[in-house]
Amino acid sequence: MYKTHGCGDLRAEHVGQRVELAGWVNRRRDHGGLTFVDLRDRSGVVQTVSNPELSQEAHAIAEQVRSEWVLHIVGEVRVRPEGMANPNLPTGEVEVEIQELEVLNQAKTPPFKINEESEVDEMVRLKYRYLDLRRERMQRNLELRYNVIKFIRDELGQRGFWEIETPILFKATPEGARDYLVPSRLYPGEAYALPQSPQQLKQLLMVAGVERYFQIARCFRDEDQRGDRQPEFTQLDIEMSFVEREDVMELLEGVYSSLIEKLFPGRPVSVVPWPRLTYQESMDRFGSDRPDLRFGMELVNITDLAEGSGFKIFEGAVEAGGEVRGINCVGCGHFSRREIDELTEMIKPFGAKGLAYLALQESGEPRSSFAKFLPSDRLDAVIKRLDANPGDLLLFVAGERDIVLESLSRLRAHLGERLELYDPDALSFCWVIDFPLVQWDAEGQRWDPSHHLFTAPMPEDLSLLDSDPGKARGLQYDLVLNGEETAGGSIRIHDRGLQEKIFELIGLDLDTARERFGHMLTAFEYGTPPHGGVASGLDRLCMILAKEPNIREVIAFPKNQAARDVMAGAPSEIEPKQLEELHLRIVE
Ligand code: ASP
Repeated sequence: MYKTHGCGDLRAEHVGQRVELAGWVNRRRDHGGLTFVDLRDRSGVVQTVSNPELSQEAHAIAEQVRSEWVLHIVGEVRVRPEGMANPNLPTGEVEVEIQELEVLNQAKTPPFKINEESEVDEMVRLKYRYLDLRRERMQRNLELRYNVIKFIRDELGQRGFWEIETPILFKATPEGARDYLVPSRLYPGEAYALPQSPQQLKQLLMVAGVERYFQIARCFRDEDQRGDRQPEFTQLDIEMSFVEREDVMELLEGVYSSLIEKLFPGRPVSVVPWPRLTYQESMDRFGSDRPDLRFGMELVNITDLAEGSGFKIFEGAVEAGGEVRGINCVGCGHFSRREIDELTEMIKPFGAKGLAYLALQESGEPRSSFAKFLPSDRLDAVIKRLDANPGDLLLFVAGERDIVLESLSRLRAHLGERLELYDPDALSFCWVIDFPLVQWDAEGQRWDPSHHLFTAPMPEDLSLLDSDPGKARGLQYDLVLNGEETAGGSIRIHDRGLQEKIFELIGLDLDTARERFGHMLTAFEYGTPPHGGVASGLDRLCMILAKEPNIREVIAFPKNQAARDVMAGAPSEIEPKQLEELHLRIVE
C-alpha cells in the first residue's frame, strides 16, 4: 500500500505519528520559504508542508508539483502552528510535515477546476467525466449511491428476499417504450431485445416458487430524450408472492423509512403509513398524479360559481363542458401585472388560454382581470371558497379539464419552489392508488394500459372491462416523493384467461400475444401464485436524497440529454465487417 491513512482522516489524535499518504495535489502555495501542498484523496484534503531544512530533496520536488499531480508523501503529523488552524476543514487542526516526497504521476492542466465547485459546461464535464467524478461533490454522490444501494440490499436480505440476476439479452419485455435491439450474428434477421424492465422475468420467478425476489436492475428504454431521462437507468425491482396491494406498499415504505432514518437522520420525512391518495383525489386536489405534499396551495374547483357568473371566459368554459379552478397564493397580492403576465406565459404551452387573477389588497379594491364582471355575492363566494384573505393572490384557469389541471399543477409547482413554501430537506412521500386500468389513446384508437399489460384489474371492477373499460381501476400504485414518481407497481394477473382478455382489450390479437408472451401464458397454466411487485427508480431516489437537480449527477457515466456518451463517443458507426457478420445493411 502506498498509504497508511486517508488524507481526510487525519486528526489531532494522529499527532506525532509517521504517516504515508497518496493522492492528488489539490493546491500548492509557496510561503515564507516553505511549500504547502494540499493533498487530496477520496477521504478529503490535508495540508502538507515541506521545509527545505528538513529535506532538501523533498523540497526541491515540492516546489515543482502542480495541481492534480499524483504524489506519495511520507511525513509526520503535527499540530498546526498557533492561529493557523482551519476550522472549515475536517483536518484543519493538523498538517503533515513532509519527510519524503515522490511524484507518482504528473498531470496536464485539467479542462476545469477540480479543487473547487464552479459552473462548468455539462458537455465538458461529461467528456472528461473521470475528472468530473474526482470532484468532491461527485465523490459524495457516488458514495451516497453506494450507501443507499448497500442499505437496500442488506435490508431486503434480512426481510427474506433473494437477489437474482435476470438476462440483459432477452425478448422484448415492454413498458410502453421502444426497445433497444441487439441483432443476432448466429441467426440472420433475428435480434435480442434489452429489457425495459425485468417485469416478465420477475413474474416467472414467482411461478418458479422464489416468493421474494429483488434486483438492482438495469433497464433500457429507447425513448425520445425529453426531460430528465436516460436510455439506461437503474431500478430497485421487487416481486412477492401471496401478497396483496397493501403488503407491497408496506414493504417499500418500511425499507425506505429505515433507509432514511439510518442514512439521512435529521431530514424531515413522512411518517408511516404514508398518505394514500386515489388517482381521482390526487388529480382533483393537485392537478397531477404526482402530488407534491410538501406544501398546500391545493386546486379549488369553482366551476359551479363560474357558471352564469357574467364573466364570458368563465361561462364559455363551463358551457363547453370544461371547468374553472383556482389556487390561492397566500400573501402574493402584491405581485405586479408583469409578474402575473409571466405566470400566464408559463402555462400557455400546456394549452391554457389565459390566467384570470384576483389580487386582494390589504385595503381598498382588489386588482383583478374579472372581478368587475361578477356580482358581489359571487365574488365573495369565490373568495370564501379559496379561503382567501387580504393580501392574497388568486389565480384561475378556465377550459378543458385536462388543460386546467395541468396548467394549475405546473403553476403550483413553480410557485411552491419560488415562494419557498417547503423545507428543502423535507422528504415527503405519498402513494397514489386506484388508477384507471386503461386509458383511451385517441391517436391509435385503442385502449392502452396505464401501467402495463400485466396489471390486474380491481376484482370489483372486472365486469366494467366489457361495459365501460375506461372506468375499471387497476390494482396499481405509484410512490411519489417530493412531486416526483419514485416507484410504481401492481398486483399482477395470475390467470391465463384474464391475461388474454386484457391482451384483447388493448387490441393485441391473440396470435400476436401468444407469439410475444407465449412463455408467460404457458407459465400461468402451471400453478401461478397470486403475486405483485414494485419497481423504484434508484437514480431519481438518489438524486432527491443528494439534493441534485437531475439524475445525471448521481450516475457515474450517464449519457447526455441527446442520449450520447460524449466521453467514449457512443453510439458509434458500425464497421462494414460487423454489419456483414450481423447480416445487416444500412439504408442511407
Ligand atoms: N416493471 C414496472 C416498471 O418498470 C414496475 C412494476 O410493475 O413492478 O414500471
